[in-house]
Amino acid sequence: MAKRDYYEVLGVSKKASLDEIKKAYRQKAIQYHPDKNPGDKGAEDKFKEAAEAYDVLSDEQKRSRYDQFGHAGTGGASQGGFGGGGMTMEDIFAQFGDLFGGHFGGFGNFSGFGGSSRGGGYASTNRGADLRVKVKVTLKEIATGVEKKIKVGKYVSCTKCHGSGAENDKAYTSCPTCKGHGYVTRVASTLLGQIQTQSTCPTCGGAGKSITKKCPECNGEGIIRSEEIITLHIPAGVGEGMQLSMRGKGNAARRGGVNGDLLIVIEEEKHYDLIRDENDLIYNLLLTMPQAVLGDSVEVPTVDGKVKVKIEPGTQPGKVLRLRNKGLPSVNGYGTGDLLININVYIPETLSASEREKIKTMVSSENVRPSQSFRDRIFSKFRNLVD
Ligand SMILES: [Zn+2]
Ligand SMILES: [Zn+2]
Repeated sequence: MAKRDYYEVLGVSKKASLDEIKKAYRQKAIQYHPDKNPGDKGAEDKFKEAAEAYDVLSDEQKRSRYDQFGHAGTGGASQGGFGGGGMTMEDIFAQFGDLFGGHFGGFGNFSGFGGSSRGGGYASTNRGADLRVKVKVTLKEIATGVEKKIKVGKYVSCTKCHGSGAENDKAYTSCPTCKGHGYVTRVASTLLGQIQTQSTCPTCGGAGKSITKKCPECNGEGIIRSEEIITLHIPAGVGEGMQLSMRGKGNAARRGGVNGDLLIVIEEEKHYDLIRDENDLIYNLLLTMPQAVLGDSVEVPTVDGKVKVKIEPGTQPGKVLRLRNKGLPSVNGYGTGDLLININVYIPETLSASEREKIKTMVSSENVRPSQSFRDRIFSKFRNLVD
C-alpha cells in the first residue's frame, strides 16, 4: 500500500502551523477512533495513518526531513504499511496524553487491539484482594531458613456453587445492564465532542449474565469466609521488612476469577545478645580485668549455640575478634557473614580495702604503663587521620 502524503492525510496545507496540525489531527483522531467505529478496519487504518502523519508533522526535525525527502526521509518509511514496526496503538494513545491532556482517561478502558480476537471481549478481570501477613522469625531461623505453618483468615471459593454464586446451572438470565454483552458503552462529553468508551459491565463484571437464584451458602458472592493453614517457606538470610509473595494464596475473587496473592512481611525478632549488621553479627563481650590481663577461655553466643573463644593474655579493650562464617547467610545464596566480637573490659567500680591495697602495689610498676611502641601501635591510625 503506497503511503499517502501526510499533509493530505491530515487535510492541511504544507505551510500549516503546529496548531493547525494539532487541530486537524484531533478531528481525525476523534472521527476514526476505534471506540466510535468498532470492528471497522477501514477506520482503524485511517486512525493509524493520521497518528503517523501527526507523529511526523508535529516534530520539527521529522517534518523538515519529510519535506525534503518525502516518506524516505522518515524512519518508518522503509517498513511500509502500518502495524509492522510502525506505531502501535500504545504509541498512539501515549501521544494522546500530550494532545488531549487529561480529558481522555476513558481511552484507558479501550480494548480490542493487540489481542488477537475480540472473542468473548471483555473478559472478567475479577481478582481477589491480596492478603498481607506479618511473620516473626528469629535469627536462628534466618540462619537456616525455616518452614512455618500459619493460619490465615480469608475468602475462599464457595464449595457449594464452586464460586459461581448461582444456586444451579439454570439460575441465570441475561444481564439486564449490558444485555448479555458483558460491557457497557458510555458516551462522554468532552471539550472535543462526544467520545464513546466501552468498559466492563459493572453489574455482571463482564460475565454477561446475572443470577436469578443466589447460592444460599455464599449469598451469591461465590466466596465465603474461611481459614486456611498455609505453609510458608522462608529462605535463609531474610531481613526485617522483606516481603515474600505467594501467588494465588490471597483472597478468592467474587464469582470466579483470579485469586489474590499472599504477601508475607518479615519481622525479625531481636536477639538478646547478637546485633545484626547485614549478614554479619556483632557480639559485645565484656571481659573482667583479670581475664583481659591473664587471658581466659570464654563462651560466646552464636545463632546456633555457644562457642568457646580463647582470650589471649593482655587483650586490649576495642579489639575485635572475627569468627568466620558464624554470621548469617546471604539471602541470594552468596556466602555467609561473620560473627564479630567487640571486646570491652570492665573496670571495677567498687573494691574492698584489701583489693584496693593490692592494686596500689602496682601503681609504681613499669608494667602498668604502656610502652612507647604500644602507644604507637594503638594510636597510629588516629595520627594518620590528623596529619
Ligand atoms: Zn455459593
Ligand atoms: Zn452486565
